[in-house]
Amino acid sequence: MKQSQELNNDVAIAPANSLPRRFARYGLLRSLLLGFILISLLNLIISQLLYTPKLYFIESNNREMVLKYNILQDRIRTLQSKIDEIHHRDIYIYRSLFSADSLHIEGIYTPYPDNKYSALMGDEYTSLMRQTWYDMDRLSRHTYATTLSLDELQILAKNKERMSFAIPAIWPIDRTQLEWFYSFGVRAKHPIYKTRKMHKGVDLSCKRGVPVYATGDAIVQKTDEGRRRRGYGRQVLLNHEFGYQTRYAHLNKILVKEGDRVVRGQIIGEVGSTGGSTGPHLHYEVIYMGRHVNPVNYFNRNMTSEEYQTLIENMRHNTDLEIE
Ligand SMILES: [Zn+2]
Repeated sequence: MKQSQELNNDVAIAPANSLPRRFARYGLLRSLLLGFILISLLNLIISQLLYTPKLYFIESNNREMVLKYNILQDRIRTLQSKIDEIHHRDIYIYRSLFSADSLHIEGIYTPYPDNKYSALMGDEYTSLMRQTWYDMDRLSRHTYATTLSLDELQILAKNKERMSFAIPAIWPIDRTQLEWFYSFGVRAKHPIYKTRKMHKGVDLSCKRGVPVYATGDAIVQKTDEGRRRRGYGRQVLLNHEFGYQTRYAHLNKILVKEGDRVVRGQIIGEVGSTGGSTGPHLHYEVIYMGRHVNPVNYFNRNMTSEEYQTLIENMRHNTDLEIE
């Protein structure tokens, strides 16, 4: 009895975490851990070597994206070539029709710096993405420039009629009165001052008192009595707008005043020999955008090519009339 009680006591006294039980619990943990590692490894192997449905889905999505980007690039290129065509027509047809300079916008044809596209860098689609954005940016810049240019042309077209009357386009004197002609450009050495000076206009020699005509519709910008014995003498400066001005110098008489509106063919003065002039003649200048241009190019409209040729030849047979 005592023995059996001792035995019972042994059982009762044995601690809950006795060695066999601890081993059993570790064994379970170990197999769980092992199982987890195995599953992870398996998953890794499957995902690396085998196509899972998800992976297949991503791959096919990417292929589709590349295809769509390529189509997009094609469309951008087509649009770019259309814009280039419009730009070409703009410069060589429309703008020359209105004798307008091509529109210049600083940097519009310079590509953006590469760092603008840095967010697209770093994966296998970089070059595709970058090129597409680059082409797209170029297209939008060119479209913007062309739109601005065409807007400007629209205004020019509206003003075309007004412009065709304003541009200096006739002879400033009756051509039958012309005795001789002195050309625009480099002047021969000055007889007194021995200096070579650019002749900013043409000299039309004729009798004193011959009427001087406004060569286009304009506003009288300036009249000057020029009492000195040098320079332009008595002169009229007309502002035709659209960038054009004309000057009529050495006049005998001025028949308009500053601020007057004049029309093409209106008499604005008389030929004389005031200022730095040694004989009656009209010194006539055409100024476009602040630069002197050859007036001959503006009054050959109503001349035949033979008349023009004769004029050019006669230019060489003349003497120096002006003292600057
Ligand atoms: Zn002159």
